[in-house]
Amino acid sequence: MNEAFLQASTIISTLEKDGHEAYIVGGSVRDHILNRDLGDIDIATSATPTQIQALFPKTIDVGAEHGTIIVVTDNDSYEVTTFRTEGSYSDNRRPDEVTFVKSLKEDLRRRDFTMNAIAMTKEGKILDPFCGTRDIEHKLIRTVGEASERFSEDALRMFRALRFSSQLSFSVHSKTLEAIQLDAHLMQHISVERKTVELEKLLIGQGMTQALSLLVESNLFLFLPLLADKKEELIKLSEFPLHTLTSREELWTTFVYMLKVEEVERFLTAWKLPKRLSKSVQEILHTIQQFQKQGWHQELVYRSGWNACLAAHHVLLLLELDKSNSYLDIKRLFEELPIYNLQDIAINGNDLVEWLEKKPGKWIAEVLQEIESELLQGNIENEAVVLKEWVRTWQQKLERNC
Ligand code: ATP
Ligand code: MG
Repeated sequence: MNEAFLQASTIISTLEKDGHEAYIVGGSVRDHILNRDLGDIDIATSATPTQIQALFPKTIDVGAEHGTIIVVTDNDSYEVTTFRTEGSYSDNRRPDEVTFVKSLKEDLRRRDFTMNAIAMTKEGKILDPFCGTRDIEHKLIRTVGEASERFSEDALRMFRALRFSSQLSFSVHSKTLEAIQLDAHLMQHISVERKTVELEKLLIGQGMTQALSLLVESNLFLFLPLLADKKEELIKLSEFPLHTLTSREELWTTFVYMLKVEEVERFLTAWKLPKRLSKSVQEILHTIQQFQKQGWHQELVYRSGWNACLAAHHVLLLLELDKSNSYLDIKRLFEELPIYNLQDIAINGNDLVEWLEKKPGKWIAEVLQEIESELLQGNIENEAVVLKEWVRTWQQKLERNC
């Protein structure tokens, strides 16, 4: 058995010895059956949160009222959740109350898809009352129970269906898909933050082409921030293997670029992305625009910096906007930069004050910026004597002009 499962097994043993049932459940069982890398391992148990806390030396209460306690082991931590059902849903997004129950089957019934409603004992035996294993074999995403009912409880499940279809390259069962088409509008009740998490996962899945088509065909895209008029662009975007990108910055840059977003900051704020991420995306976009005007050159590499250039390069390569692989060119340009910032200039403001016998003021920054520009264009060497001579000539020119 997988090392992480072995750790989880010791938690299950402790719970069983105290007279409770406990199983591995959810995504990790699904991924284990699929032979995929495992994400978090979740445990479901008949023990109550208080009983869980009493049994383990180190726990974190992350939502005891919903039944979830984190058990911390030597090298890891595991979410241990009491079997529960969810009460009525009046807002299409969260249950009005949760009720702890004694039966595993009841707990599995409240889960979103059959493939996510499978339990495994610590010995590796599969318990699968909703035939999730069969659906996994057929690569099918199907709700546990009647799809419309499940979507009216929590509308995000529709978007989850599509993101799983992207991550696993599964199809969405026809009944589940029909319900998504009918109920897409319920997505308006879902918070942007939850939508953003699912969108990011959807975009970088191996089966993204199909999932994005489903997003458009089902009209779900109409209920995502500022995407309502981007149908054609989303279809076009689906042709590119976004999973090859290496960061969120690159992903959102590609998204914004392909969607031809005009007000980038407003768009990213609507998706509730952190300001820092938004700033990086805008820098990378600017670098792309500059590259498209003039190709890679020293001043661009200097002004944008290595990270933005590399990210812009990845995006350009993915979108086939830079046919020659420019990585080595960018690297060489960067390595050959005479300076990396104003402080690298071989003279400073004090030198200027002394040489020109002028009072310090705004003029210092102006002269240094001019020197910076000369250095980047390769017109002068970054050596104190050379720069002193340049400053002298510059002053003479200035005096002649006056
Ligand atoms: P991932 O690999 O992305 O983490 P996952 O299946 O583990 O996939 P999580 O969001 O971590 O997904 O949720 C863990 C489990 O909780 C799911 O497998 C599913 O059984 C259940 N679950 C999560 N979100 C919902 C939901 N909105 N409605 C019903 N069940 C859900
Ligand atoms: Mg998970």
